[in-house]
This record gives sequence, C-alpha cells and structure tokens, in this order.
Amino acid sequence: TDQNTANIGVVGLAVMGSNLARNLASRTGNTVAVYNRTRAKTDELLAAHPEAGFVPAFSYAEFAASLSTPRTAIIMVKAGAPTDAVIDDLLAVFEPGDIIVDGGNALFHDTIRREQAVRSTGVNFVGMGVSGGEEGALLGPSLMPGGSDESWVTLGPILQSIAAVAEDEPCVTHIGHDGAGHFVKMVHNGIEYADMQLIAEAYDLIRRGTGKTPAEIADVFAQWNAGELDSYLIEITAEVLRQTDAATGAPLVDVIVDQAGAKGTGGWTVQTAIDLGVPVSGIAEAVFARSLSSHPEQRAVSAGLPGPAPKAAVDDVDAFIEDVRLALFASKIVAYSQGFDEIRAGAAAYDWNIDLGAVAKIWRGGCIIRAQFLNRISDAYAAEPDLAVLLTAPFFVDALTRAQDAWRSVVAAAAASGIPSPAFSSSLAYYDGLRADRLPASLIQGQRDFFGAHTYRRTDREGTFHTLWSADR
Ligand code: NAP
Repeated sequence: TDQNTANIGVVGLAVMGSNLARNLASRTGNTVAVYNRTRAKTDELLAAHPEAGFVPAFSYAEFAASLSTPRTAIIMVKAGAPTDAVIDDLLAVFEPGDIIVDGGNALFHDTIRREQAVRSTGVNFVGMGVSGGEEGALLGPSLMPGGSDESWVTLGPILQSIAAVAEDEPCVTHIGHDGAGHFVKMVHNGIEYADMQLIAEAYDLIRRGTGKTPAEIADVFAQWNAGELDSYLIEITAEVLRQTDAATGAPLVDVIVDQAGAKGTGGWTVQTAIDLGVPVSGIAEAVFARSLSSHPEQRAVSAGLPGPAPKAAVDDVDAFIEDVRLALFASKIVAYSQGFDEIRAGAAAYDWNIDLGAVAKIWRGGCIIRAQFLNRISDAYAAEPDLAVLLTAPFFVDALTRAQDAWRSVVAAAAASGIPSPAFSSSLAYYDGLRADRLPASLIQGQRDFFGAHTYRRTDREGTFHTLWSADR
C-alpha cells in the first residue's frame, strides 16, 4: 500500500460511501483511501472507477498507513451499532489529532455520546449530516458537520470541495459542536416531511375540488415552480403527476399504493421537539399522516363512516387553484418557521452556537428541500439574528398578509368537503395561536389548579396563587 499518500479516507463503500469517495476523488487536490469490511465491495469500486485513483486498504492498519496526518476518515456505514464498531476499529489505529467523521444518519444523542468518548482519546469526532441521497453524494451534497473547531480547520476545505454549490457558495458550514450537525440534519428531514405532506394535500384538494387529471395538475405544479414556490419538491411533483404507468396507461400516482413509508428521522424531529417543548405541529401532522395512511385495516373498517354530501366542483377553478397555492405557501412558511424554532431551541438546550441564516443557505443546494425561498430565511436572520419567530420577519408577514384569506377559505372548504388537510389546517391553527391576544390556556391553568393544586400566575400581580376551589362552592 502507498504510505501517507491519501488526504482523506472513506470507510463503508455501499452506495453512499462509494459515491462520496468518487466525488472526493474527482476534486483537485484529493487522494482518497477506501476501505470496506467486505473486500468484494472495494474490489468492485476499484475496477469500476480506475480514473478515481483510489488508494485501497484491506485492513484498518493499511487504511491508517495510507493517510497523511492528521488522518481524516469519513464513515458511511449503517447507522447504529455498525458505526460504533467502525469507530472502535479506527481508534485502534488512529492517533491524537486525527479526525473521524460519521456521515451516517445518526441520532444526535448518539453523536454527543460518541464525540465525548472519542475526544477522551485525543482523536476528533465529527458527526456530519449528509443530505441529497445517492445523487447528492456523487455530484454535490448539502453537508452539515458538527464537531470541534480544530477538526473544521482540516475538514472544511475538503468538504467545501465536494459540497453542492448554490449561488457560488458551497452548501456546507460548520454547524456547531458535537451533535449540532446531526441535529440540524434531523430537523431538515422533519421539514422535508412537512413540505411533502403540504404538497400532497394541495394536490388532493385540487384533484377532488376541480376534477382535474393528474397530468393537468402536473401543469399547475410546473407553473407554480416558476413563481415563489420554486423548489425541487414542486418540480419533481409535476414529474411524478405526469408519469403514466407503462403496464396500464393509467396515471402512475393512481397505481401506487397510498401508504407512505418512513425511515424515522421525521419521528425523531417530533420526539425531540416534544422534549424541547417546541410546537412543530406541521411536521408532527406530516409524520402522523404517513402513519394513518399505513394502517389499511383501520382505513377499511372506517370507510363507511359518515361524511358530507358530495359537493359539486368549485365554480371558479382558477381562483380555487390560486387559493390553494397561497394556502400552500403560507403553510410552508409555518413549517420552516417551526423547524427553525426547533433548531433555535436545540442550540439553546445543548449550548451550540448555530447561525440560523447559514443553515438556510446550505440547504439551497444538494438537498431535497432546496428552494428559492431559503434565501428569504437567510435574509431574515441576517437582518435580525435573534428573531424569536421566523414568520414574523417582514417578508413573511407580507406573504402571510397576501395569503391568509385564501388559506382560511381553503381550510374551511376542505373541512366542509371532508377532504383531510391536517398540515394545512394545523399550520393555520398554529398561526392563529401565535396571533391570539388571549389563549384559553388560562382555563387550563384553572383546571390544573382545581384538581391538582398546580397553582397559577395572575395577570395583575407577581407571585403564584392557588384558589381554595371547594371552599368557594
Ligand atoms: P447502508 O446500507 O446503510 O450500509 C451498508 C454499509 O455498512 C456497507 O459498507 C457495510 O459493509 C457497512 N457495514 C454494515 N455493518 C457493518 C459493521 N458491523 N462493520 C463495518 N461495516 C459495516 O449503506 P448506505 O445506504 O450507503 O448508507 C450509509 C449511511 O449513510 C447510513 O448511515 C445511511 O443512513 C446514511 N445516509 C444514507 C442516505 C441515502 O440516501 N441512502 C442519505 C444520507 C445518509 P459490508 O459491505 O461489509 O456489509
């Protein structure tokens, strides 16, 4: 094996790892060492890509010897116990000052634990969120590294060389210490769930409200993609809706079973939000909408439940579609506002110094939620870094002012017609909850004090109070 010739190594050569290794090798200045537990994968990668100039290793000792110091290795293996096993193997051959990066989809709690354990050996550990799937790994992902400032010095330039580029800026920034990168990646995925659910609700409302075919609705989405909703998800939605099934000639969307799968990161976002006390209701509805879809036995026994009498198609199709577009935009603003609220709360709880505007910028390329709209979020935080609620930034207030009547009428129409719109309607309820001068939480405090003597605070005096409820009756 060549000694000390590689500046970066990749462990784990399944689809993500081999694509990331090829991406690294394609950029000037990088020589990439590669290792996989099962030798056959390494041999295959070398045979398929001689142009990459990979430095293969067939043991961890060879892998360490092939890397220049500080040694830098990116792990791309199955999340969970396999990641721990690989970290242990690398620690046996690495030295203080070297850098281990976990690019798998780790839960940030695991990353915090691993960072602490690895740091105690003098080796640096970086948990890094990688977004964009296989294609992103190969052509340019959005990268969310956590870890120490020291590791960023070595790692930063390498990551900048492989990341997606948006408006001439690489889609990578040092998010914050230890688990910050994986935390932000988790919330990214949660926002992705909400964005997809909102788009699905918009499609359903248009289809059932106007009777348009999927191909006709594809044209609507293509048009939307030319405006303020311009984004990867809207773009691919048009393509999915336009697709016909080769076997039957039917719209493919009608042939696909209507039960949505999930790998868990959306659920993590919601569980974490509950721990932090952050109301990410749009993301939660999106996660639960997938759960509901995936219970065919419950749906079968519920199919006969009463609903409203069938409604005629809307009178003014174009006006209705424009209302749905505005409702989608407003609900999307809520989803992102809630997601950034969770990042803000996570940063406060875990003592991470996260630049929220920079997070919005690195999501503009490489990842699934890439969108024009993210520039407005970075603008908002540039103008006011301590913004308490993202949707109160002037741009979003303007958008919500334009959209709110349409949003209300779409949610009302959905309810009247019996078309489920959990993400549209919960986003609107969140918005109205934030706006409310008084909330009925005062009544809840009264109830809590009544049955549990939980006490309450008063609007007119400092202190905590308890009423002798039974004595008053
Ligand atoms: P994967 O199917 O998650 O994992 C397969 C790789 O893990 C193989 O290289 C395998 O080695 C290795 N591995 C499994 N158990 C191991 C162990 N005990 N010790 C050493 N190596 C072990 O591969 P993937 O889809 O390429 O994903 C890699 C990571 O990236 C995952 O954490 C995934 O969550 C994350 N990720 C995936 C995507 C995506 O779109 N797929 C996007 C972002 C992040 P062998 O060949 O020896 O079995």
